[in-house]
Amino acid sequence: MRTPLIAGNWKMYKTNQEAVELVRELLRLLDGTQDAEIAVCPPFTALSEVSRLLSASGAPLALGAQNLYPRKEGAFTGEISPPMLKALGVTLVIVGHSERREILGEDDELVAAKVRAVLDEGMKPILCIGERLEEREAGGAFRKVEAQLEADLATVMQSEAAGMVIAYEPIWAIGTGKTATPEDAQEMNSFIRGRLAARFGEEIAASMRVLYGGSVKPDNASELMAMPDIDGALVGGASLKAEDFAAIVRAAT
Ligand code: PEP
Repeated sequence: MRTPLIAGNWKMYKTNQEAVELVRELLRLLDGTQDAEIAVCPPFTALSEVSRLLSASGAPLALGAQNLYPRKEGAFTGEISPPMLKALGVTLVIVGHSERREILGEDDELVAAKVRAVLDEGMKPILCIGERLEEREAGGAFRKVEAQLEADLATVMQSEAAGMVIAYEPIWAIGTGKTATPEDAQEMNSFIRGRLAARFGEEIAASMRVLYGGSVKPDNASELMAMPDIDGALVGGASLKAEDFAAIVRAAT
């Protein structure tokens, strides 16, 4: 039985003060939630403050980061290292988000290095994969996702795989209001689990969480979460409103 994970990707939203207000509201709304793991991924600038707030509350909300640079330290101006995140209490790191692939030109080689760096620091990667609209329309969605999985997990050992989370995020559904149908998302998530089984074995693949992300909202979350291979959601826009994020968490439990 896989515990669903609902992770909020705040992207480049929320100042420190706004982040604190959002977390306070979330702690109030999510108090007593059971049967789901919940995580928030604020921007780097708010991690420290949010970490303090979460520790003080004792609530089981995990702290995630949206990115890192795959070196422990060095002359990498503007970048953030795995130990810096770990020291703040970060346990999850989003890697390979399509906004970083598409806008900042991250390729699979860099994404694979980031996956490696997160695991080496004892944190969990949330690896995002997914196809562009034209790739889906040309019938290439499965091929694209398979290639990303193969490249991005290239260095992951069987013993490390269970600690990973995969998020299927079709690019055409991110921030657009267009959601994959529950059936389409299930079909892809099931395909992903099949590839994970081929790579790491049935038992490990069955224990790994495969999330869906792409315009998840309170009104579509229940039917997506009801699918057997959708083990939670990576939520962007709707995670910026406490009521909406809490409603999505409720849908997953
Ligand atoms: C995301 O940023 O990972 C995401 C899924 O965004 P949205 O929910 O806004 O589509």
